[in-house]
Amino acid sequence: SLDAVDIGMVGIPYDGALTNRPGARHAPREVRNQSSLMRAINHATRVNPYDLARVADVGDVPFQSVFDIEKTHEDITGFVGMLVAHGILPLCCGGDHSVTLPILRAVAKEPVALIHIDAHTDTWDSFQGSKFNHGAPFRRAHEEGLIDPKKTVQIGIRGAQNVSEGWDYSEAAGMRVMFIEEVQARGIDAVIEETRRIVGDGPVYLSFDIDSIDPAFAPGTGTPEIAGLTTAEATALIRGFRHLDYVGADMVEVSPPFDVGGI
Ligand code: MN
Ligand code: MN
Repeated sequence: SLDAVDIGMVGIPYDGALTNRPGARHAPREVRNQSSLMRAINHATRVNPYDLARVADVGDVPFQSVFDIEKTHEDITGFVGMLVAHGILPLCCGGDHSVTLPILRAVAKEPVALIHIDAHTDTWDSFQGSKFNHGAPFRRAHEEGLIDPKKTVQIGIRGAQNVSEGWDYSEAAGMRVMFIEEVQARGIDAVIEETRRIVGDGPVYLSFDIDSIDPAFAPGTGTPEIAGLTTAEATALIRGFRHLDYVGADMVEVSPPFDVGGI
């Protein structure tokens, strides 16, 4: 019964809003496959999450119209909203980054704080005629009042662009943009401390784009950018953000076909 679940892992096998290499639709099944050796306790926290919460894989979002981004997004909002109505905290596995917008529509009852770990700010505007592409979810979320820009931190930003529009939009909106050079110069502990101060005690959403990690560690993604986070830095970041008031979280942009070694 869904009423017996505290945290639900949700697969969102959709990559119809990508602009570059595809394949993220295959992520949920491959993340499940790679998780077959997932164990209960790690040395850093010594916490067994299964002692604290009832965790279940609640399956994939069923889609009606995968050739229509906006209808697909409605399916995601509906499914995640159904989980929220059962008191379940959604832990979502994308899919391309466009899926975060419809998740936020389901979980944000008020403008929420946002921890966004990514090579890209994803605050660009329309691309090829759609304003719901994977480079735009946080611009739309800001416009729709789903996130509080003053409580938003974007960590690990880098990579050349043709125009600086997305970076400029985030900073003009009042978001805290931490480019990768600043993260590496100041160190992970300082990043955690400042981020926790900005997001505060209220409801917060965490969105983790796998391309935040250097492609030497995580090649399986659609828009790889060199000189990113190490896996040690990424795990330290995630552990540093424990004990916050989460309304949900996601990991997106994993593209298994580009990770031929399954690393
Ligand atoms: Mn992204
Ligand atoms: Mn990205």
